[in-house]
Amino acid sequence: MPILIVGAGIGGLTAALALLQRGHDVEVYEQAEQLGELGAGVQISANGSRVLFALGLEAALREVWCEPAGKEIRLWNTGETWKLFDLGAESAARYGAPYFMIHRGDLHQVLIDAVRALKPDAIRLGARCTGFEDDGRSVTLHLANGEPINGDALIAADGVHSVIRKQLFGGDTAQFTGCVAWRGLIPVAKLPPRFARNVGVNWVGPGGHVINYLLRRGELFNFVGIVERSDWRVESWTDKGTREECAADFPGWHEDIHELIRNIEQPYKWALLSRDTFGRYTIGRATLVGDAAHATLPMLAQGANMAIEDGMVLARCMSLTELPIAVRLERYNVVRHDRTRKLVQGAAEMAKRFHNPALAEAAGAKAYVDAQWNETTVKQRYDWIFEYDATTVAI
Ligand SMILES: Cc1cc2nc3c(=O)[nH]c(=O)nc-3n(C[C@H](O)[C@H](O)[C@H](O)COP(=O)(O)OP(=O)(O)OC[C@H]3O[C@@H](n4cnc5c(N)ncnc54)[C@H](O)[C@@H]3O)c2cc1C
Repeated sequence: MPILIVGAGIGGLTAALALLQRGHDVEVYEQAEQLGELGAGVQISANGSRVLFALGLEAALREVWCEPAGKEIRLWNTGETWKLFDLGAESAARYGAPYFMIHRGDLHQVLIDAVRALKPDAIRLGARCTGFEDDGRSVTLHLANGEPINGDALIAADGVHSVIRKQLFGGDTAQFTGCVAWRGLIPVAKLPPRFARNVGVNWVGPGGHVINYLLRRGELFNFVGIVERSDWRVESWTDKGTREECAADFPGWHEDIHELIRNIEQPYKWALLSRDTFGRYTIGRATLVGDAAHATLPMLAQGANMAIEDGMVLARCMSLTELPIAVRLERYNVVRHDRTRKLVQGAAEMAKRFHNPALAEAAGAKAYVDAQWNETTVKQRYDWIFEYDATTVAI
């Protein structure tokens, strides 16, 4: 019987591709009627790109990604700039894989094409899953239309509001963080030439920060602005706001920030919720991957990377065919749990670092940035993340 995957997002499709490449049969059930271009930019660090390359996706990704030369920190009001770290060739050589920025829709399409090349009918659309049963010998997945689907194992990659997580582990642990994120895309052609520099910028200020980088061969500019605000609590990728409301959230910020906001095609607003990870991700023949398992705040840019790592480790564990399926899924649980919990906690700590009151005035800000983002501290903070190799980690 096939392995059943709920959700054709980044985690579900990575798992599907890695499993198909290892000779497993998979079926992916996705609630959306169509797989469209949704979302904005995602950052893929070496720990994610090494998996995508191992899956044979390098050439397709190079067609659509942007590989920045480095990252900078800028101060919210004066625009003073500090180098954060080099990316580009230097980073690819150090970690053995590149750091790149990509539109989520482009990454999604690359994964869809690769899955369909191996199994054209692997992804079933308009298939909302409502729950499942595990009788110890097989699983039965239930769709909203009442149809039962049988499989050997169930992989829940149904994202941050996972129904399968709810069934396995009960209620959600989500808590509002007091932060709201604005997201938007801008055609680079609409911006003054100074914005076409291929670097990622983290603007830091008291009570807010802004992340900027180029996407899609340098044709699109990605804007994410996170502010402390308590009147918007909807956790959604698709809720729209206005440019005026977005601009009002950044009073006194540098003119570059306001130039960007004026040019955002459609701003989206998204309340940031934090969650504790569960003590485990696997029960019997069912397991969780990606945001369903360990939804994270975006401050370490590791949500998509963790989902990609999960997909690879899970496929490797499922290929230990001498073991019973529940034991293979338990191996996956053991290998992934501590790393993903540490990343989720690290992202929450990073939020405090980005929003420190010391950043309000230029003098205090310089000392704070020097202490928090010097080369040694940055290496300690990121090396263990980027060096992880899901293709070889002991299972
Ligand atoms: C529309 C959308 C836009 C996004 N935009 C961004 C962005 O701009 N930047 C960013 O960093 N991250 C974005 N993300 C989140 C990012 O993709 C994830 O945080 C990360 O990649 C982890 O991937 P995942 O596979 O766990 O979850 P996701 O990529 O969120 O995928 C989950 C999938 O499961 C499907 N699903 C959910 N419930 C069911 C159900 N009951 N039955 C069947 N299918 C179901 C969803 O439709 C979705 O396709 C977005 C997610 C979505 C869904």
